[in-house]
Amino acid sequence: MAVQPLAGKVALITGASRGIGAAVALKLAQDGADLLLTARSEAALDEVRSTTLAAGATTVHTFPIDLADPAQLGQLAEDVKNRSNGRLDILVNNAGILPRAKRTENTSRSDWDLAMNINLTAPWFLSCRAKEMMADSDGGAIINVSSAAAFYPSVGLASYNVSKAALIMLTKVCALEWARDDIRVLGVAPGKVDTELVTDILAWSQRSGAEINPMRRVADPTEVADLVAFLVSSSARYVTGTVIPIDGGELLTSGR
Ligand code: NDP
Repeated sequence: MAVQPLAGKVALITGASRGIGAAVALKLAQDGADLLLTARSEAALDEVRSTTLAAGATTVHTFPIDLADPAQLGQLAEDVKNRSNGRLDILVNNAGILPRAKRTENTSRSDWDLAMNINLTAPWFLSCRAKEMMADSDGGAIINVSSAAAFYPSVGLASYNVSKAALIMLTKVCALEWARDDIRVLGVAPGKVDTELVTDILAWSQRSGAEINPMRRVADPTEVADLVAFLVSSSARYVTGTVIPIDGGELLTSGR
């Protein structure tokens, strides 16, 4: 039997219905964690539930909710607490959206608010609730999925750039405050990962022949999942408050 570094741990993963979140769910299941999965699509969550159970997870609960709705977000925190008997060891704030606009001044108020609510406010709220649960037990690890786009501006992506940059500062403040509670708070900053979120950007780079990064390939979601699994494991027990790019060298070129 393979070593299961996360056996006995309980992990909440947002945006777990597809893409990077689904890959993280599968990897943490293989590593032995019990899973609490959330996203809007109940059907897609059910599929991930089946996949993770087939991969060896013993307990998988799903919570279909809209993270942009404060009432549903509050209810999620309550439901998670009840389902896991108050135990939470790992939180992966992964759900995110990427609204586009021609220029910053064309960004609609609703897109701006949605990007902030999903990319920043939901991670803040869930981190605070997770902190309460983790501080009551043996500590824990919180991973915020930021982006290489937090480090350089892109035309038309103001709400995304700003929300992902702010998420990095949130990561650092929480890490500073909660280190004494044995809670590590970390970020990962993916470059281009092969998911629905960036289908149009990847199609554009193929059409134009532009190199996506120095490695000249996009990441598979499993590559981000492997990094998350390392960061939440005891192998990274002295690492906190930092954000790790996983970007094929994209930041070496500031995205150009
Ligand atoms: P996907 O679009 O494939 O997945 C996004 C996930 O977020 C889905 O599970 C979706 O589920 C969920 N989600 C979206 N809106 C809501 C909402 N209102 N309420 C609850 N859940 C929601 O994206 P990725 O897997 O690519 O992205 C995951 C994270 O990685 C994001 O934070 C993204 O910004 C970040 N990232 C991705 C990169 C890439 O190249 N792919 C690069 C850098 C960062 P559902 O629709 O069922 O609600």
